[in-house]
Amino acid sequence: MQTLSQWPKRDQFYQYLDSLLINPDNQTNLIALLIMNLDNFREVCELLEFRDIESVLAEAAQIIKNSCPADSYTAWLGSDEFAVVLPGTTEKEAEQTAAAICSNLGNPIYVNGRHVLITASLGLAFTPRDAQDRYELLKNASMAMNWAKKLGKNGYISYEPMMSRHISRRVSLVNDLASALAENQLILHYQPQVNIISQSIVGAEALVRWVHPVHGLIPPLEFIPLAEETGYIIQIGEWVLYQACTDFNNWLEQGIVLERLAVNVSIVQLKQMSFADRVLEILEETRLDPAYLELEITESQSMDLPEVRPQIERLRNHGVRFAIDDFGTGFASLNHLRYMGFDTIKIDKAYIHNIITNNRDQVIVGSILTMAELLQLGIIAEGVETDDQLRYIKQTNIKEVQGYYFSPPVEKSAFEELIQTVQKRS
Ligand code: C2E
Ligand code: CA
Ligand code: CA
Repeated sequence: MQTLSQWPKRDQFYQYLDSLLINPDNQTNLIALLIMNLDNFREVCELLEFRDIESVLAEAAQIIKNSCPADSYTAWLGSDEFAVVLPGTTEKEAEQTAAAICSNLGNPIYVNGRHVLITASLGLAFTPRDAQDRYELLKNASMAMNWAKKLGKNGYISYEPMMSRHISRRVSLVNDLASALAENQLILHYQPQVNIISQSIVGAEALVRWVHPVHGLIPPLEFIPLAEETGYIIQIGEWVLYQACTDFNNWLEQGIVLERLAVNVSIVQLKQMSFADRVLEILEETRLDPAYLELEITESQSMDLPEVRPQIERLRNHGVRFAIDDFGTGFASLNHLRYMGFDTIKIDKAYIHNIITNNRDQVIVGSILTMAELLQLGIIAEGVETDDQLRYIKQTNIKEVQGYYFSPPVEKSAFEELIQTVQKRS
């Protein structure tokens, strides 16, 4: 077997690729570039001696080479990254090769008395279809590889132009996030939480939107994750809370009295040591009674972090309530109920969507309700859109719902009108 250092490296690989691109001898076929990166290499390194790591990489290179047609070119790009060039191929052939590489790498590698499991994520790009030169080809294949990683690793994916568009929109939105707050581009919408027995609006959930000067209205599902990655979520979250508390207090002064103001908080905010203090400061600045506030947290693995629980406990001691959002979709829901202090469960809309026809969803919703009752937690069904869904929910004994059936999230003034109409009716 070739040692790792015997494989062509980056320089030779570039030279080879350039020579192919300068003299394409077969105009009808494509040249495919496969870039791959091992998925769990860091763990493998922690497990093995340095010498053995080299053997694993050399073995991986050999497996890759053996999975490819005879006229292919395999190179080691350093660390756990490899490249394969298929000089005259089709998309189908190249994808078959990629599939073979994934599957063959999936077998355990035997090194120095132990089995090592590795998998790889592969990106493919083709010239002339996707790229005119080496730089573009490498960039697009790497982009596809990152895509494969994000889609769950241990797989391959071919470059598509939408990947570039997606990345450039992302980059431009991240750049613009800084000015979103400074230039007052964020707004809040409110969605009513309705008690279906009394037919009255009992709460308001604040939902943030970004009115971008060029791209128009950007939904939170697109920019909140970016804000979380960049840390802007801290400032955005504080703005949302301040604005929502101010609006709610304003309603109280107008005689619009609801039981609850629901505000979403990101786990990134909750991990801050100063989170509870900031919330209490904002409540004081806006003079809102903490008993009105319910903070919603979407369940995630990071909820288990030791720094999160004290923040929740401190705020609950001041009367702030907590809801577990999108219940049933995240991780270890039951464990969270056991260890963290929650007051309300919000059943995810995915369970309500097919509640009329899907027996499993019916059973799950029924069990969540029973559990909530036994644990003395409040319960809200999200995503109620139709008459039938509402009728079903009513007979389960769930009393509070949110959903398009009553109203989508609307601007503050429209929300006030909505409340006035409902109050007049009752
Ligand atoms: P969420 O907290 O689960 O909010 C409910 C989402 O469901 C909202 O989407 C709402 O418009 C939508 N929805 C309400 N009723 C229905 C219905 O009947 N059918 C369907 N299909 N959808 C319905 P939106 O406003 O796009 O917000 C998406 C998510 O973004 C929120 O999910 C929340 O996780 C996050 N988000 C929104 N505002 C904030 C914020 O201020 N801070 C943080 N950290 N996250 C926020
Ligand atoms: Ca929510
Ligand atoms: Ca939700």
